[in-house]
Amino acid sequence: MPIDAASWYEQDPHGESFYQGDVVRDVPVVLMPPAGDAPWTLLRPSPPHTVEQVLAGQTPRTLKPHPESSRPDAWRLGAEIVLAKGIKAPAMVVTQTCDLDSRNWIQLAPVFPASKIEDPRKRASLGVNEIGYMFILPADPPRLAEDSYADLSMITAVHKSYLRRGGLVVRLKSPIRALYQRHLANLHGRPFSFNVHDIVPETGPYGCHNCYLRHGRITRAELVEGQPCTACPSCGEEALWIMFGE
Ligand SMILES: [Zn+2]
Repeated sequence: MPIDAASWYEQDPHGESFYQGDVVRDVPVVLMPPAGDAPWTLLRPSPPHTVEQVLAGQTPRTLKPHPESSRPDAWRLGAEIVLAKGIKAPAMVVTQTCDLDSRNWIQLAPVFPASKIEDPRKRASLGVNEIGYMFILPADPPRLAEDSYADLSMITAVHKSYLRRGGLVVRLKSPIRALYQRHLANLHGRPFSFNVHDIVPETGPYGCHNCYLRHGRITRAELVEGQPCTACPSCGEEALWIMFGE
């Protein structure tokens, strides 16, 4: 399947509800400071306010920055008001579709332009979607101006209110959403398989994980891209298909 907008995205998605894999616009993401000894900048209120009061929600007149290393009492309360860098970028929904309505906090991966990657070999690997912690998002102007990627190494939690009506940028087609799910599953090292409710992401030979785990049996089938995953000839609807390697 070519990696282009026509293969990747739904043509005219509705924006009433959201799905795993949706790219949404302008979500603020707070970035951790780089690792190191005491890299945080703490914000301390001027008297009469105390850190405890500010943490409880009071607004002080001023907040002064202090390098973490200069304050022996840093994190004394197990919490601090900190200076942090935030970016506002498009972001891709990581949380499973069925959990989006029931959770207050959802996981998103920020989306960046592919041109941000300087190493040409890395950019080429992204071009064929072979980088485990990135998922390619081909350009689809004017919705998505240039080739981009979701950075799955920077998955972050935001309140669900950031999924706003009218905030949808692009929505993956079902077979591509299945590819994205496989990408996420591989990234987190879990065994993964497709069941009879999934769409086959790629034509090829598959084996049934359920037959193997429960009966020590190898059951093979040829599955066809874009078609629903078939039931297993041995275990029927319990089929869990995994693709055989090259
Ligand atoms: Zn089976």
